[in-house]
Amino acid sequence: MVDHQDIIDNLTAHGIKPSVQRLAVMEYLVTHHSHPSVDEIYTALHPKMPTLSKTTVYNTLKLFTEQGAARQLTIDERNVCFDATLHEHAHFLCKHCGKVYDVAIRKPQLIEDTEVPEGFRIDHSALYLRGVCKDCLLAAETPTRQESPE
Ligand SMILES: [Zn+2]
Ligand SMILES: [Zn+2]
Repeated sequence: MVDHQDIIDNLTAHGIKPSVQRLAVMEYLVTHHSHPSVDEIYTALHPKMPTLSKTTVYNTLKLFTEQGAARQLTIDERNVCFDATLHEHAHFLCKHCGKVYDVAIRKPQLIEDTEVPEGFRIDHSALYLRGVCKDCLLAAETPTRQESPE
Protein backbone atom coordinates (compact mmCIF):
# COMPACT_ATOMS: atom_id res chain seq x y z
CA MET A 1 0.00 0.00 0.00
CA VAL A 2 1.23 3.44 -0.91
CA ASP A 3 0.37 6.40 1.25
CA HIS A 4 -0.93 9.19 -0.95
CA GLN A 5 0.24 11.76 1.55
CA ASP A 6 3.81 10.42 1.27
CA ILE A 7 3.70 10.89 -2.50
CA ILE A 8 2.25 14.39 -2.15
CA ASP A 9 4.98 15.25 0.38
CA ASN A 10 7.65 13.79 -1.88
CA LEU A 11 6.51 15.87 -4.86
CA THR A 12 6.15 19.01 -2.75
CA ALA A 13 9.62 18.49 -1.28
CA HIS A 14 10.99 18.51 -4.83
CA GLY A 15 9.13 21.72 -5.69
CA ILE A 16 6.49 19.97 -7.79
CA LYS A 17 2.83 20.93 -7.52
CA PRO A 18 1.00 17.62 -6.94
CA SER A 19 -1.68 17.47 -9.62
CA VAL A 20 -3.83 14.35 -9.98
CA GLN A 21 -1.86 13.22 -13.04
CA ARG A 22 1.53 13.85 -11.45
CA LEU A 23 0.43 11.90 -8.39
CA ALA A 24 -0.64 8.98 -10.56
CA VAL A 25 2.68 8.92 -12.45
CA MET A 26 4.74 9.11 -9.23
CA GLU A 27 2.60 6.45 -7.58
CA TYR A 28 3.23 4.17 -10.55
CA LEU A 29 6.98 4.80 -10.32
CA VAL A 30 7.24 4.07 -6.61
CA THR A 31 5.15 0.90 -6.87
CA HIS A 32 6.88 -0.47 -9.99
CA HIS A 33 10.60 -0.95 -9.55
CA SER A 34 10.94 -2.37 -13.04
CA HIS A 35 12.22 0.97 -14.43
CA PRO A 36 9.19 1.64 -16.62
CA SER A 37 9.28 3.62 -19.88
CA VAL A 38 6.90 6.43 -20.89
CA ASP A 39 4.91 3.92 -22.98
CA GLU A 40 4.58 1.47 -20.12
CA ILE A 41 3.34 4.11 -17.69
CA TYR A 42 0.97 5.57 -20.26
CA THR A 43 -0.46 2.14 -21.14
CA ALA A 44 -0.97 1.31 -17.46
CA LEU A 45 -2.58 4.60 -16.45
CA HIS A 46 -4.58 5.54 -19.51
CA PRO A 47 -7.52 3.14 -18.91
CA LYS A 48 -8.04 4.73 -15.47
CA MET A 49 -7.35 8.29 -16.66
CA PRO A 50 -8.73 8.71 -20.19
CA THR A 51 -7.72 12.39 -20.27
CA LEU A 52 -4.05 11.49 -19.74
CA SER A 53 -1.96 11.83 -22.88
CA LYS A 54 1.40 10.31 -23.66
CA THR A 55 2.82 13.83 -23.92
CA THR A 56 1.65 14.56 -20.38
CA VAL A 57 3.35 11.42 -19.10
CA TYR A 58 6.53 12.41 -20.95
CA ASN A 59 6.42 15.99 -19.65
CA THR A 60 5.66 14.82 -16.11
CA LEU A 61 8.65 12.47 -16.10
CA LYS A 62 10.82 15.22 -17.55
CA LEU A 63 9.71 17.53 -14.73
CA PHE A 64 10.38 14.82 -12.10
CA THR A 65 13.88 14.33 -13.52
CA GLU A 66 14.63 18.07 -13.64
CA GLN A 67 13.42 18.52 -10.06
CA GLY A 68 15.39 15.50 -8.82
CA ALA A 69 12.32 13.45 -7.86
CA ALA A 70 13.16 10.69 -10.33
CA ARG A 71 16.01 9.59 -12.53
CA GLN A 72 16.06 9.06 -16.24
CA LEU A 73 18.01 6.04 -17.40
CA THR A 74 19.45 5.78 -20.86
CA ILE A 75 20.97 2.33 -20.35
CA ASP A 76 18.75 1.06 -23.16
CA GLU A 77 19.23 3.55 -26.01
CA ARG A 78 15.99 2.53 -27.69
CA ASN A 79 13.90 2.82 -24.56
CA VAL A 80 14.49 5.56 -22.00
CA CYS A 81 13.18 4.45 -18.63
CA PHE A 82 12.61 5.97 -15.22
CA ASP A 83 13.41 5.25 -11.62
CA ALA A 84 12.11 6.87 -8.42
CA THR A 85 14.77 5.14 -6.28
CA LEU A 86 17.14 7.98 -5.56
CA HIS A 87 19.88 6.39 -3.47
CA GLU A 88 23.12 5.70 -5.32
CA HIS A 89 22.87 2.48 -7.28
CA ALA A 90 23.96 1.05 -10.59
CA HIS A 91 21.87 -0.58 -13.31
CA PHE A 92 22.28 -3.81 -15.20
CA LEU A 93 20.60 -4.31 -18.56
CA CYS A 94 20.04 -7.89 -19.67
CA LYS A 95 20.56 -7.89 -23.42
CA HIS A 96 18.48 -11.06 -23.65
CA CYS A 97 15.22 -10.21 -21.84
CA GLY A 98 15.70 -6.43 -21.80
CA LYS A 99 15.00 -6.12 -18.06
CA VAL A 100 16.81 -3.41 -16.14
CA TYR A 101 17.95 -4.54 -12.68
CA ASP A 102 19.09 -2.45 -9.71
CA VAL A 103 22.63 -3.23 -8.63
CA ALA A 104 24.16 -2.09 -5.35
CA ILE A 105 27.38 -0.11 -5.57
CA ARG A 106 29.76 -1.38 -2.92
CA LYS A 107 31.81 1.80 -2.98
CA PRO A 108 29.40 4.71 -3.39
CA GLN A 109 32.27 7.14 -2.87
CA LEU A 110 33.63 5.94 -6.24
CA ILE A 111 31.88 8.85 -7.91
CA GLU A 112 33.23 11.39 -5.42
CA ASP A 113 36.68 9.89 -5.96
CA THR A 114 36.46 10.60 -9.67
CA GLU A 115 38.80 13.42 -10.58
CA VAL A 116 36.95 15.98 -12.60
CA PRO A 117 38.96 18.93 -13.83
CA GLU A 118 39.28 21.78 -11.37
CA GLY A 119 36.23 24.06 -11.34
CA PHE A 120 33.87 21.49 -12.85
CA ARG A 121 30.60 20.46 -11.23
CA ILE A 122 29.02 17.02 -11.52
CA ASP A 123 25.22 17.08 -11.79
CA HIS A 124 24.61 13.55 -12.87
CA SER A 125 26.41 10.25 -12.85
CA ALA A 126 25.31 6.77 -13.80
CA LEU A 127 26.93 3.37 -13.83
CA TYR A 128 25.52 1.10 -16.49
CA LEU A 129 26.32 -2.58 -16.78
CA ARG A 130 25.22 -4.78 -19.65
CA GLY A 131 25.15 -8.53 -19.90
CA VAL A 132 22.83 -11.48 -19.43
CA CYS A 133 20.80 -11.98 -16.24
CA LYS A 134 20.75 -15.17 -14.16
CA ASP A 135 17.29 -16.19 -15.33
CA CYS A 136 18.29 -15.97 -18.98
CA LEU A 137 21.60 -17.77 -18.40
CA LEU A 138 19.82 -20.61 -16.58
CA ALA A 139 17.19 -20.84 -19.30
CA ALA A 140 19.92 -21.10 -21.92
CA GLU A 141 21.74 -23.84 -19.99
CA THR A 142 18.70 -26.03 -19.34
CA PRO A 143 18.31 -28.29 -22.34
CA THR A 144 14.73 -28.63 -23.51
CA ARG A 145 13.18 -32.12 -23.51
CA GLN A 146 12.85 -32.22 -27.28
CA GLU A 147 16.56 -31.58 -27.78
CA SER A 148 17.88 -34.28 -25.45
CA PRO A 149 18.03 -37.74 -27.08
CA GLU A 150 16.10 -40.38 -25.16
ZN1 LIG B 1 17.48 -11.65 -18.81
ZN1 LIG C 1 17.13 1.62 -10.35
